[in-house]
Amino acid sequence: LAEHRAIICKGCWQKMHVPVPLRGPFSIPFRIVGIKPSRMNPNICTICETMFTRIMPSRTIGIDATILFADLRGYTTMSQSLTPEAMSGVLDAFYDECAGGIWAHDGLLNKTIGDAVMAVFNFPIQQSDHARQAVLAARDIQARCQARRDALAESLGLADAAFGVGIGIHTGNLSFGEFGHNHRDLTAIGDVVNIAARAQGVAAAGEILVSAAVHDAARDTMGNGAARDYRLKGIEQPVALYAA
Ligand SMILES: [Zn+2]
Repeated sequence: LAEHRAIICKGCWQKMHVPVPLRGPFSIPFRIVGIKPSRMNPNICTICETMFTRIMPSRTIGIDATILFADLRGYTTMSQSLTPEAMSGVLDAFYDECAGGIWAHDGLLNKTIGDAVMAVFNFPIQQSDHARQAVLAARDIQARCQARRDALAESLGLADAAFGVGIGIHTGNLSFGEFGHNHRDLTAIGDVVNIAARAQGVAAAGEILVSAAVHDAARDTMGNGAARDYRLKGIEQPVALYAA
């Protein structure tokens, strides 16, 4: 995952034009005082990761952002025929490839939830084309996971690795902040998050489903496919989704 590692914090540079070294000899004094690469995005520093929560009196902010959920399909079925070690190897590979795709497009790997990951685009690194970046990251994740799957299937002795990745993306205004009793849990909530998660839920293995808002914002990278209406759990009206 070394290929996309920035030398200075992209967040600090973008917001203040201050070069905060993350790697190399100049980063040592910063590391001593606790400023190091964020575990959510190695191209930003730990100050950027927590800055918003420290300066927000209300503890939450409304931001325009894009949310991506990716879920490993076939994991449960596979877990019946593989050793726990092999299964954790599969999950680690999935997390690695998701992180690679997300970070290559300046997204924040916000959470891993069981066999799914959640990423935020436009926070804290700002991107005027965050919906488009999320779509590109999703395609990157699919390509990386497919390449990795074939190698894994061979090393695990599986004739046909029956696993793939389903991805859902939605964009809009959402709340970002610290929620729950664990105040280190910095995350996004709101309808945008829920719909992205539900879209991922109906995406088949290998599929990327995006909302009309993402489709419109990322139009130059979308094909000519028509939307399909989906019934999403917990949402009354059918939701139009496009394959990306
Ligand atoms: Zn920073």
